[in-house]
Amino acid sequence: MDRQQAQQRVHKLREEIGRHNWRYYALDEPEISDGAYDALVRELQQIEAEYPDLVTPDSPTQRVGSVPTTQFGSVKHAQRMYSLDNAMDLEELDGWLERVEPEVSRRGCGYLCELKIDGSSIALTYAGGVLVRAATRGDGKTGEDVTANIRAVNSVPLRLLVQGKVPPAQDALFSDEPVASTVEVRGEVYMPKESFERLNAEQDEAGQPTFANPRNAAAGSVRQKDPAVTASRDLSAFMYQIADARALGIGTQHEALTWLHEAGFKVNPDVKLCAQAAEVHAFCEWAMNVRNDLPYEIDGVVVKVDDFALQEELGYTAKAPRWAIAFKFPPEEKTTVLREIRVQVGRTGALTPVAEFDPVTVAGSTIARATLHNEDEIRRKGVRIGDTIIVRKAGDVIPEVVGPVERLRDGSELEWSMPAYCPSCGSDVWREEGEVVGRCTNAGCPAQRLERLGHWASRGAMDIDGMGTEIITRLVEQDMLHDVADFYALRFDDLSSLDLGRIKKDGTPQLLGGTIARKLMESLTASKTRPLARLLFGLGMRHVGSTVGEALASAYRSIDALMAASEDELAQVEQVGPKIAASVKAFFANPENIDIIERLKSSDVRHADPVDEGERREQTLAGLTFVLTGALERYTRESAGAALKALGAKVSGSVSKKTSFVVVGAEPGSKYDKAVELGVPTLEEDALEMIIKSGLPPAEDAL
Ligand code: AMP
Ligand code: ZN
Repeated sequence: MDRQQAQQRVHKLREEIGRHNWRYYALDEPEISDGAYDALVRELQQIEAEYPDLVTPDSPTQRVGSVPTTQFGSVKHAQRMYSLDNAMDLEELDGWLERVEPEVSRRGCGYLCELKIDGSSIALTYAGGVLVRAATRGDGKTGEDVTANIRAVNSVPLRLLVQGKVPPAQDALFSDEPVASTVEVRGEVYMPKESFERLNAEQDEAGQPTFANPRNAAAGSVRQKDPAVTASRDLSAFMYQIADARALGIGTQHEALTWLHEAGFKVNPDVKLCAQAAEVHAFCEWAMNVRNDLPYEIDGVVVKVDDFALQEELGYTAKAPRWAIAFKFPPEEKTTVLREIRVQVGRTGALTPVAEFDPVTVAGSTIARATLHNEDEIRRKGVRIGDTIIVRKAGDVIPEVVGPVERLRDGSELEWSMPAYCPSCGSDVWREEGEVVGRCTNAGCPAQRLERLGHWASRGAMDIDGMGTEIITRLVEQDMLHDVADFYALRFDDLSSLDLGRIKKDGTPQLLGGTIARKLMESLTASKTRPLARLLFGLGMRHVGSTVGEALASAYRSIDALMAASEDELAQVEQVGPKIAASVKAFFANPENIDIIERLKSSDVRHADPVDEGERREQTLAGLTFVLTGALERYTRESAGAALKALGAKVSGSVSKKTSFVVVGAEPGSKYDKAVELGVPTLEEDALEMIIKSGLPPAEDAL
C-alpha cells in the first residue's frame, strides 16, 4: 500500500467506523458485530502506525489520550449556562404553566417535555465539524476544560455527521483556513445505573471510596486526571441544546433535537410536544411510572416552551430561563424490613441509634442503614424492630426512615429503647436536661477514642493519608495509641511490625510491613504542618466544626492566643457566640487536653499560623464592606473573606444599603436578590480575584 492508497483507506475506514460508532452508541442499533467493528478499528490503527502523519485528532483511534492533566484549565462560556427553576410538585408546575400559557397558546407553539437526566452538564464546541472543546458548567459563566476526558465518551462524536452521514474528512484542525463555523451543543453526561453499580462494587473491592449516586459518579469520572480512567467508566451523554440554534436557522426545541440527532449525537427519544397543560401533566405522570425501568437515572421532567422566538421574549432571571421549568419527582420511597437498631458511639460520646434494614435500591443505589438520630425521633416515628418500614433518600443522597407501615404488623414487632449503658464500654449513659442525645460518660471509652483518633486523621482535619480505621483500631488494641498526640510518638518499627490480627497462609501473623509503614511515617510528617484551623477542628471540641475552626484560627492565629482568650472575648468572634465559647473554654480547662496540646507542640505539630503576606498588605479596601454569596470555584468562603479582610475590607453576612459589593458565585442565595433590590453592585469571581491579587478596589467603570 503506498501513501496515497493508505490515505484513501484511512478516510474510508474512519467514515465507516464513525458511522458504526454512531449506530452503536447513539442509536443503540448496531449494524455489524463487535468483532467486525474491532477489526475495522484494528486495521485503521495498523495503517496509522505505519503512516503516523495521517493521524488526526478526530480519528476514532484517538479517543483516549494518554497524558494525564494535573489541573483543568478554565473555560469562559460564550453564552451563560443556566440552571433551571424547580417545581417541587404538580401545583408549582401549574403555577408556571399558567404564567406562560397565554403566550404559548397565542403562538400555538406548545411545550416540549424532556426527561431530566441526572448527570452532569456539559458543553461541547465543534469547529469545522470537529470536537475541539468540552467544558463543565462550573458557575455557569466559567467551567472547566474537560476535553480530553469527554473525548473518551463514546457517544460523543469526535466529528459531526451531516444529515446522518459522515462528512468527508476535512482535517479542519490542521488547515490554515479560518475554521468554518463553530457550533456549541449542550447536554448531560451520565452513568447508566448498571455501570454505576458495577463501578461501586469495583471501588469497594479495591478499597476505594464509593459514589453516593450515578450523578456523583458521572461528575467524578468527568473530572478524572487521567482520561484512561474516564474511558474505563462507561459514561454516556444525551445532548439537548444548541447554544445558538437560531443562527443555524432552527426555530424550535423539537427541531433542535432532530438536528442534534442527525449530527450524530445521542438524543433522548422520550420527548413529547404537548399542546396543553393536561398533556404536560400526563407526560410527568408517565415519566414517574417508567422512571425505575429506565437504564439511567432521571430526577424529573424538563418542560420547555418550544418556540425559540418566544423563549427569547420570556428571557431569563438571574439564575434560570423563564421559558423552562424542571418538574422534580417526589423523593423515591421503598419499603423494607427493619432488622435492628444499633447504637453507635461518636467521638463526643453521643449515642446515635442507626436503623439496619434489608438492603433496597433507592434512587439509584443500595442502602441498608439510616441514622435515626435519637430516641425521641424513634418514638416520634414509632418504628419497632421487625416493622415493614418506608425508606427514602433525603435530598436524594442521605438515607432516611420515613416510618412504619403499621397495618402490616403481626404482633411480633418489638419496641426499642435506648440502652442505659454504653454499648462499647458499659458506662452509664447520661442525657442532659434539654438535650435530645444521650452520651457515654466515660472519657476513656474505646469507641469514643477510636472516633476521636479517626477524626484527627481524617481528610478535613489533619489528613494523615493512609491512617484508616483498621490501622487505628490495631494501634489502639496494641496500646500504642491513646490520644491524638500519640500519633507523633509512633516510630517506623512500631508501624512496620504492627500485627494486623490476621494469619497468613504460612501460619505467621500478618504485619503491616515496611512499605506501608514508610508511607504512614511520611503522612504523619506531612500532617504536622496543617493550618491551625485544621488542628482546632481535629481536636474535636464540641461545637467546633471546620467553619468555627477557621473562624477561631483567623481570629487568634495561635493556640496559645486562643487559650488565653476569655469566654466573653471568644463569644464576640463571628460564627462563635456564647455556647461555642463555653465549650472551647471547657475544653481548655481540662488538664488532659492541655497535656495533649503540650505533647503536640513538643512533636513540632504546627500550632500557630504564620503571619501571611496578606497581613502586611496595604489596607487598600479600608471602608468597603463585602458580602459573599454562592459557591466560588477558586476560593472557599473563608479564604475569600480572609483575603479581603487582609486588605482592610469588612466582610459581612448580610446585604444592606451600606454594603459596597456583593460577590456572587454559583447558585447564589437570597443575598443576591437583595443586592439587586437595593442596587448594590455585584462582582463575579474573576473580579474578586483581580481585587485580591492586585489589592486594588474595583474600578468604577468595571461595574
Ligand atoms: P438543576 O441542576 O437542578 O438546577 O437542574 C438544571 C440541570 O438539569 C441543567 O443544568 C442540566 O444539567 C440538567 N438537565 C438534565 N436533563 C435536562 C434536559 N432535558 N434539559 C435541560 N436540562 C437538563
Ligand atoms: Zn462508652
